[in-house]
Amino acid sequence: MMLGRKQLLIDGEWRDASDGKTQPVVNPATEEVIAEVASATAEDVDAAVRAARAALEGPWGKMSARERGRLVYKLGERLMAQADDMARLETLHNGKPITESRHVEIPMAAECLQYFAGWADKVHGETVPVKGGQLVYTLREPVGVVAAIVPWNFPLLIAVWKVAPALAMGNTVILKPASQTPLTALALGEMATELGFPAGVLNVITGSGSTTGQAIVDHPGINKIAFTGDTSTGKGIMRSAADTLKHITLELGGKSPNIVFADADLDAAVRGATMGIFYGKGEVCAAGSRLLVEASIKDEFLTKVAERTKKMVAGDPMNPKTRFGAISSKTQLERVLQYVETAKNEGATLLAGGERVDIGTGKGYFMQPTVFGNVTVDMTIAKEEIFGPVLAAIEFADVDDAIEKANASIYGLASGVWTSDIKKAHYVASKLKAGTVWINTYNVYDTAAAFGGYKQSGFGREMSMHALEYYTQVKTVWVDLAQ
Ligand code: NAD
Repeated sequence: MMLGRKQLLIDGEWRDASDGKTQPVVNPATEEVIAEVASATAEDVDAAVRAARAALEGPWGKMSARERGRLVYKLGERLMAQADDMARLETLHNGKPITESRHVEIPMAAECLQYFAGWADKVHGETVPVKGGQLVYTLREPVGVVAAIVPWNFPLLIAVWKVAPALAMGNTVILKPASQTPLTALALGEMATELGFPAGVLNVITGSGSTTGQAIVDHPGINKIAFTGDTSTGKGIMRSAADTLKHITLELGGKSPNIVFADADLDAAVRGATMGIFYGKGEVCAAGSRLLVEASIKDEFLTKVAERTKKMVAGDPMNPKTRFGAISSKTQLERVLQYVETAKNEGATLLAGGERVDIGTGKGYFMQPTVFGNVTVDMTIAKEEIFGPVLAAIEFADVDDAIEKANASIYGLASGVWTSDIKKAHYVASKLKAGTVWINTYNVYDTAAAFGGYKQSGFGREMSMHALEYYTQVKTVWVDLAQ
């Protein structure tokens, strides 16, 4: 399937990159080029910033908060009305199973838009009881022009986690999807234009991180960068953004521990351990990629995990029965398989998977879901984010050892605890250095619940009322009342 040539959305108009350059988009399940997408230059970024600024000072800034909220709500409605098409696009460029796109991620994105739409007219300033003779009140104002820079693993959902609160709070947005997965972001821009969002409110700029992304980060007219991606990219963005002192929020990598105690419901924990790592092919920032298992049940538990894993067979992502799709790109597949080799060389025991597979078409970047046992905390696969379907199982002796091993990471995005002991569950939750703790469940999300990192997994929070903080700023107004 060839979707043709895609342009940039700037100031409500579709246009080619200023130098006419494009980049191919590849379907990882077939290796076919499915679209040619414009590669935005610094000049295009500048045009988008000017359009976003004009919309902010003009029609968008003048629109009532309630009206703004209504438009954002309608965008959620439109997304659901086109959920089948959007899910197909998401699966085409990312390789994730269509079931995940259609029944989880597009509905979550629509819900996120509608959740934040509801906040549009409910965030307001306050009067402040200062010492006498003065009236002090605050205004909650938008930060301004917000750039949302997003990765390829949840292309639309992560974009919406930023676009929804940004728009609802009255900011204007420049959205830059990952170069591998730009199609759903462009479609979102198209929907916003059709729904009557004023020109320049949502601009969609496609291109590489090094050219387009960097031009965004360096542009002095952008007030805030909301970034999700690799920790090293995030550090670079933080350094560059310092020059113009932009607001930033960073949602970065993870190496999340999923801790199974001997007193857990082991069948539920087996399901949680496999779903925790293999949902989205393990290309999930919060993936439970370190499975910490209590020594007394280790052998039995890992046998069950390996058995379940071997039943998960990679298949055509467009088939509604497929539960495990294609790795997102050739580069990513090679990277993940390299980690498998490293794990073997460092002495981990391969319990399931580990190989590239052919689903019968001779094409596509498919591999087996993979489990390693006998992993120790100093091994590469226990420390580095693989961002693929590779589970590293590490044993622990007791509660303290579990906590120590769980926290032995530069990351702190998420974590899981499996136990039937309520005291132990909450005690461990209080000790884990992570932005999310799941108890007897894993990988569950809701727009009303905050998500974000501790340590080198970043700062700022997405979703929930906490996200509102990061898309507004407080102005204090003093009025002299002296008679
Ligand atoms: P990446 O950092 O390579 O790219 C992310 C985005 O940044 C892309 O749009 C890319 O084009 C852009 N980019 C790259 N270099 C840039 C630069 N110098 N300036 C500006 N923009 C630049 O990450 P990725 O490989 O697309 O995504 C995988 C990473 O994302 C993983 O580390 C994963 O853990 C992380 N992630 C985190 C979360 C979270 O919420 N914490 C969620 C999903 C993914």
